[in-house]
Amino acid sequence: MVYNWLFNEQSCLLCDGPAEVGASLCTGCESELPWLTGQCAVCALPLPTSGLVCGACLKRPPAFERVEAPWRFAFPVDTLIHRFKHQARWPLGRLMAECQARHLAHAFDEGLPVPQALLPVPLATRRLRQRGFNQAGLLADWLSKALGIPVRPGLLRRVQDTPAQQGLDARARRRNLRGAFALAEGADVYGQHLALVDDVVTTGATAEALARLLRRAGAARVDVYCLARTPRPGD
Ligand SMILES: [Zn+2]
Ligand SMILES: [Zn+2]
Repeated sequence: MVYNWLFNEQSCLLCDGPAEVGASLCTGCESELPWLTGQCAVCALPLPTSGLVCGACLKRPPAFERVEAPWRFAFPVDTLIHRFKHQARWPLGRLMAECQARHLAHAFDEGLPVPQALLPVPLATRRLRQRGFNQAGLLADWLSKALGIPVRPGLLRRVQDTPAQQGLDARARRRNLRGAFALAEGADVYGQHLALVDDVVTTGATAEALARLLRRAGAARVDVYCLARTPRPGD
């Protein structure tokens, strides 16, 4: 009995305190994460209440159907994502993917249609070389294992290295991404329901570019699964 307890004891990845068996987060840390509790029904932009569609989505309906994110891009999730991406702290990425999988499983229970495949957002070749891994690819693999949805990793390709999106406004981001992506040769997406996977959705420009590409190729529906959604600048 004692042996079992010792054997199963885990410590929280955030505070080092004791975590529940089978979990890598303690309940205190979990409850303090910036859970997204009110958001745009389309792009998941943080809003005071749920069930509304934001002004930008009303004015210019995106090519994707829906963004699903468990968190706002705020402390400590922003730091965790940074460490996962830039310091290759994979256990943190895995922990966040597990939370995202639980979030999605719940959404599926509530009626969100289950996609036929997960498509990681491709990283620019230069950045892939610097970083050595594509964080979206890892997230898609972890989500796939947890949810039993296959990944189609090579379907989306980055054909052009674009300058980093950081620091650009929405319009500049859209322009920056023109011609950046393509479908793999012979890829068939006709009539399919697909879900893009990325770590953060900021303006939604990348998701929009990829969703439009897929819809033009005949995809029936494109959703976007990310860990965190940024608020509107200034909010
Ligand atoms: Zn903790
Ligand atoms: Zn919106």
